[in-house]
Amino acid sequence: MTEQSHDLFTGKGAGKMDAIAKGPFASIYPVIARQILDACGVAEGRCIDIGCGPGHLAMALCAASDLTIDALDSSIDMLSIAEQNIREAGFTDRVRTVCGDVHDLPYGDDSVDLIVSRGSLFFWDDRERAFREFYRVLRPGGRTFVGGGFGTAALKAEIAEKMREIEPEWEAKAAGRLARKNTDAVRRDLERAGIPVCEILQDEAGFWIVMRK
Ligand code: SAM
Repeated sequence: MTEQSHDLFTGKGAGKMDAIAKGPFASIYPVIARQILDACGVAEGRCIDIGCGPGHLAMALCAASDLTIDALDSSIDMLSIAEQNIREAGFTDRVRTVCGDVHDLPYGDDSVDLIVSRGSLFFWDDRERAFREFYRVLRPGGRTFVGGGFGTAALKAEIAEKMREIEPEWEAKAAGRLARKNTDAVRRDLERAGIPVCEILQDEAGFWIVMRK
C-alpha cells in the first residue's frame, strides 16, 4: 500500500469505508456477488476476497453460495471491522478474516478455487506481481473476478448522487479509476505477468479481470 492510501484505510478511514459500504454502496454487493457466480461458475470450495475492507462483498458472496471465504486485507483496522460485521451477520462458519498482502499471498500453489477483489487494485504497489500471485495460488479450473465496479449503471448513478453530499470529489475519482487509460494499464500488467487465459469484462459500471487457470 502507498503512504497516501494507508491513511484512507486505517483508523477513521476504515470506519468511513464501513459507513459508505453500509450506506450508499450497500446494494451493490449482492449484485456483484451474483455477477461473480454467473461469470466464474465457481460456487463452492475456497475463495479469497482480496482487499476485503469491512467484508461486505465476502458476506454477500457467502450468502449466495457454498464457498468458504477468506476475507483478506493488509489493514488491521479494516479487518477488525470486518470481523465484527461477519460475526453480527452470523457468517463465522464460512467467512474468516486473514491479514495479508496481495503481493505475497499466504497460500500454497494451486490451493484456491476463486479469487475476488473489488476496489482494491487501484491501491496496489505492483499489480504485475499481484497478478502472478493470483495465477500461482489458483487451482487448475480456478477463476478470478478482480477489479472495480458498482454492479449496474443505474446503481452507479444512484451512488454518485448520494456521494455528492458525503465526498464532493468522489465522482471524479471514481471516473478516473475506471477510465480507459487505467484499464489499458491493467491490460499491460496482465500481459507482463504472462497470464495465459484472461479476459476483461467492462461496462459502464466497472471492469473485472476474469483469469482462468
Ligand atoms: N473490497 C472492499 C469493498 O469493496 O467494500 C474494500 C475496498 S477499499 C476501497 C480497498 C481495500 O484494499 C482496503 O481495505 C485496503 O486496506 C485494501 N488494500 C490496499 N492495498 C492492499 C494490499 N497491498 N494488500 C491487501 N489489501 C490491500
